[in-house]
Amino acid sequence: MFLSLKSIELAGFKSFGKKTELVFGSPIASIVGPNGSGKSNVAEAFRFVLGEQSMKSMRSKKGEDLIWGGSPGLSRMNRASVKVTFDNSKRLLDIDFPEVVVERVVHRDGVNEYLMNGTVVRLKDVIRLLAGANIGGSGYQIISQGEADRILNASPRERREMVEDALGLKLYQHKKAESERKLEETGVNIDKTKSLRRELAPHLTFLRGQVEKIEKAREMKDELSHKLNDYLSRESAWITQEDTRLLEEVKAHESELKQLGARVTDARHKGGGSAESALRGLQQKLSEREGKLSEARRESEKLVRELGRAEGALEANNVTVEAIVPVPHVRAFAREVDASVAEIERDDDLSSVRRRLQGIRGKISSFIEGLSGAAPVTNEEARQQVQSLSQSLERVQQEESALADDLENLRKKIASTREEGFSAERELVELESAVREAQGKLSSVQAARASVTAARQRFEEEVREGVALVGGGVRGWEQAGIPEGALSEERAVQEKRRREIERLKIKIEESGLGNGEQIVTEFRQTKERDEFLAKELDDLEKSAASLKDIIAELEKTIDARFHDGLKHINDALKSFFTKLFGGGEAKLTVEQPKRRAAKTDFDTDEDDEEDFEDEEELYAGLSISVSLPRKKIRGLEVLSGGERALTSIALIFSMTQVNPPPFLILDETDAALDEANSKRYADMIQELGQKSQLIVITHNRATMAAAGELYGVTMGGDGVSKLLSVKLEEAERVAK
Ligand code: ATP
Repeated sequence: MFLSLKSIELAGFKSFGKKTELVFGSPIASIVGPNGSGKSNVAEAFRFVLGEQSMKSMRSKKGEDLIWGGSPGLSRMNRASVKVTFDNSKRLLDIDFPEVVVERVVHRDGVNEYLMNGTVVRLKDVIRLLAGANIGGSGYQIISQGEADRILNASPRERREMVEDALGLKLYQHKKAESERKLEETGVNIDKTKSLRRELAPHLTFLRGQVEKIEKAREMKDELSHKLNDYLSRESAWITQEDTRLLEEVKAHESELKQLGARVTDARHKGGGSAESALRGLQQKLSEREGKLSEARRESEKLVRELGRAEGALEANNVTVEAIVPVPHVRAFAREVDASVAEIERDDDLSSVRRRLQGIRGKISSFIEGLSGAAPVTNEEARQQVQSLSQSLERVQQEESALADDLENLRKKIASTREEGFSAERELVELESAVREAQGKLSSVQAARASVTAARQRFEEEVREGVALVGGGVRGWEQAGIPEGALSEERAVQEKRRREIERLKIKIEESGLGNGEQIVTEFRQTKERDEFLAKELDDLEKSAASLKDIIAELEKTIDARFHDGLKHINDALKSFFTKLFGGGEAKLTVEQPKRRAAKTDFDTDEDDEEDFEDEEELYAGLSISVSLPRKKIRGLEVLSGGERALTSIALIFSMTQVNPPPFLILDETDAALDEANSKRYADMIQELGQKSQLIVITHNRATMAAAGELYGVTMGGDGVSKLLSVKLEEAERVAK
């Protein structure tokens, strides 16, 4: 027969202070030996290596108790290890090795290590691997000493677990538990994700609002850009046109002014200075001539008088000095002499008197001389005098008339010159007003130019501002042509555009979001995060749903297999029971489902129950009913010790029938049996041995006889358990 259990090796485990190996060569191996030699330690070594976590079930309090404690002969160890070797050529274990060695080590500090084919693994891995081969779990396949009726003593719930374990449902239950754990995790993650989304929601809403505003601002900016382009191209065209036109006007006005200036100079020259000086010259000449004329007139009057006197003298022909010397002349002379004499009379200085007298003498002689010159001496002389005077008079009179003519001419000339001056002045006035007019025009054109310059400055400012607001795009007008009607429309239309643009700018400014890149990015990221979370939530919900499906499916499978398996167990139980008791009946029945807390199994306080209401689930345990042949009383409580042992053996054995475990370890399960029952027990062992490998610890000869090989355990004076292969004859001796 194929043996799945090849060997077990104990090193430092409990009483096995020295490394001891048990190699199995028969489907039924029996371990015999005296009390306290260490047989049960072997069964516990199996528990230990298969992952047992209950120290109690290994008769220990802590990990350290499992380690060889030392004896006077052999000092204590620091670690206990048990190694079990499986033949995996038939892939009993779901791992791709022909042989699998599972090892567990415990150290003094209580730390455990698990190894699989020498590689450190987790306990979980060991349990899962073994569960796949229907080994482990509730430990129904290792029946410890005195525990044969454990299944009878167990609660309905524990009993059900043992049955489920025997039916190989552990694997499904592990899967179910795993799925439930995952479902729970998924639930937690769903809640977490939902709460993350909930937390994100207001921020996302806020950002969405902001982004909408930004979008609106962007639209306004686009509109602004469009309007600015139109406006600026019109403005540029208008400014250029106005500039050129006004410049030409300026030039025209300037050249007009230049011409007018020349004419003004000309007119000033004509009317002003030169005319005046000509006039002054003429007037000077005029007064000079007038002087000369009056002189000539005086001369002619004198000559007329002298001629009159000379003609008179000539007519009288006896001309005397008295006649020709004018009386005033003599009177003046006499007054002069009289004055000089009066001075002399007042003068006491003789020399001065003499000098004055001399002076008087001089005066007298010059008076006499004067008289003698003036008075013609003869008539001839008088005639000559008249003649010469007449001639002189004629000459003077001619001169006089020439001067009078001159004067007449001069006066005419002065009048005409004056007239000329007046007309030049009139022209100048006219010209000056023309200059003023031209200057007025020029300055108004220049004012217009200044306003164009101001418009250009404003335009440039608008361009700068536009670039700052909507970017270089506003310069689009530089390439584009002049918009239609830009040069012919009313300025007011353009002004209206400008106002519209200003309004738009204010609106954009009021939106106060700038270009909002950061907010848009944040919104995008937040949205992506939210979408990611939504997707994750969806995935989680899907996986929760599929986990629920899996769980439901597993529950269905477990339920089906359980009921089916239970039926088979009951059939087998009936047969074993009849065999052992020669009649009667034992039966496992599913109890009415009871409420129980889903999470906390046994430690639920009465008070807490309400809190767990939601998490409660229905659980139906397994009860056992026994009716013995020829006995009226039913129920477990009334069975004798031996009857209990028989019932539990029947139950354990029937449980192994449906899904036989690879091996079964029975530690003195037959201890309470009488001889007849021991024989029946041995028969059953042999029957079981056909399906499962058996390791039976016993003191019973019948059981020993059923085994294919026997091991004797002894303990020497050093307290170390020793193992040796024995023959049946020796075995009985060894066992005692
Ligand atoms: P019985 O036939 O009476 O059931 P047994 O052969 O099953 O006896 P065990 O119970 O397996 O005997 O062995 C118990 C022995 O193992 C005791 O002598 C005990 O002192 C010894 N032992 C248990 N733990 C340790 C340990 N950590 N170090 C040394 N010896 C230990």
